Amino acid sequence: MYTSTRGSSLVLNASQAIIRGLADDGGLFVPQVMPRFNVDDIKNLSQLTYRQRACIILASFLNDYSPDEIRQCVDNAYMPEKFDNELVAPLCEIDESLSVLELWHGPTSAFKDMALQLLPQLLSTALRKEAVSNEIVILVATSGDTGKAALEGFKDVNKTRIIVFYPSEGVSEIQKLQMVTQEGKNTFVVAVNGNFDDAQTGVKNIFNDVLLREIIEHNGFSFSSANSINWGRLVPQIVYYFSAYADMLKSNRISANDKINFVVPTGNFGNILAGYYALCMGLPINKLICASNANDVLTEFLMTGVYNRKRIFHKTLSPSMDILVSSNLERLLYHLSGNTNTVKNLMEQLEKNGCYSVNDDIIKAIHKIFWAGFADDDKTIETIKYIYDKFNYVVDPHTAVAWHVYEDYKKQSGDDTPTVIVSTASPFKFADSVNFALSGNRENLTGFEQLEKLTGITKWNIPAPLASLREKPILHAITCEKSMMKDTVLEILSLSERFSE
Ligand SMILES: *Cc1c(COP(=O)(O)O)cnc(C)c1O
Repeated sequence: MYTSTRGSSLVLNASQAIIRGLADDGGLFVPQVMPRFNVDDIKNLSQLTYRQRACIILASFLNDYSPDEIRQCVDNAYMPEKFDNELVAPLCEIDESLSVLELWHGPTSAFKDMALQLLPQLLSTALRKEAVSNEIVILVATSGDTGKAALEGFKDVNKTRIIVFYPSEGVSEIQKLQMVTQEGKNTFVVAVNGNFDDAQTGVKNIFNDVLLREIIEHNGFSFSSANSINWGRLVPQIVYYFSAYADMLKSNRISANDKINFVVPTGNFGNILAGYYALCMGLPINKLICASNANDVLTEFLMTGVYNRKRIFHKTLSPSMDILVSSNLERLLYHLSGNTNTVKNLMEQLEKNGCYSVNDDIIKAIHKIFWAGFADDDKTIETIKYIYDKFNYVVDPHTAVAWHVYEDYKKQSGDDTPTVIVSTASPFKFADSVNFALSGNRENLTGFEQLEKLTGITKWNIPAPLASLREKPILHAITCEKSMMKDTVLEILSLSERFSE
């Protein structure tokens, strides 16, 4: 069962927690009991496919889902038509002690697919199990990648509809094409005249509009979000930590019970938190290494115990990590302190003062498990080139940040434990930065020309979902002013007239 990090007495099963997303007291849902896996359980995983591994890990958390329901969700999420690698999350060996876990073989070529392919399946199943009659309307404001991954995940999923708002100025040409060519009967994509903040504020206002909510509930709809604090988005990410370990066992790179490190490019702290859950469940992990870009708020926190969001916001070459408030950190604070009052106080301080600091016990607990570092844009570019020259392997800027932090960690700690770098995007997703790093010059090319150039340098194929964009018809052409987002939602739900009455 699941409870809130902030101490309300609410206790829910997994379906209910996934439907609600956020607890009423503003806290996040956490499992009351951590499932445990022993050496033999983990050894057994190494003989299985990714989908079979996923079923076992998910079943340990989603007690109210039947094995058949879980299997159906997993098969729909990770079907071969959607992932261009049969292993789903393959491990690429770099040298004796270093591997890269490639999480970008899904339909949008980035790691968000790992969770956003499965969340809609879990949600749709939960709605059926809990006999919820309303259709769920997912609202997303996106700066690019999350919107597309959510659209792909919710496409044609029963009893759901998804509306994505993207800023007309602020997404790349390829990102825009990915969204406006989106297929699916239940998908809607809207360009907002404004920047990302405008789009995000508009969506928040819609969520907070009590009258609007009443009207749409009355007409058979409920709003929900697909953001990374939903338990249904976190739990799929635990699977690939086990899967990576199982693959290392399978290829005899490690023996049962050997510990390994993971290095994770981090933004909202969802990915690395899933690694922490894997550790708590018994996976032999030595260190979880948290990598940030110039927005190094987490580096400071994990090293010193001081969280301070009052700092300059940097727009970097690894935009999916440009974050100053990492929401999922709340779950870690809960597990380390074991005290909902502590969490509540810290979150109130963050809200009020923009900062907080944790006590020595928590800092000690953090240092046992975590190490943290960061890389600025210059280091990121340098690292992409260094990896290509040294290993003939190409990484995107987010993965390069992690790689640089790993090199720093090795130098400072002398630790030679086998290590997995978690790779979160295909280099083609950020072809302009990667081309600049590899060729040394920044050319003024279109998105497609950048893809061609990167293929030319690397001889890797352009991922099919990106290559096929050229031929796809534009299916979404709605634009709206930032003041009209609510009206646009009502129009999409065919409720405009009823609302004005
Ligand atoms: C979202 C994202 C991240 C950050 O992951 P969190 O779970 O938010 O820490 C890193 N890299 C890429 C490419 C992403 O899309």
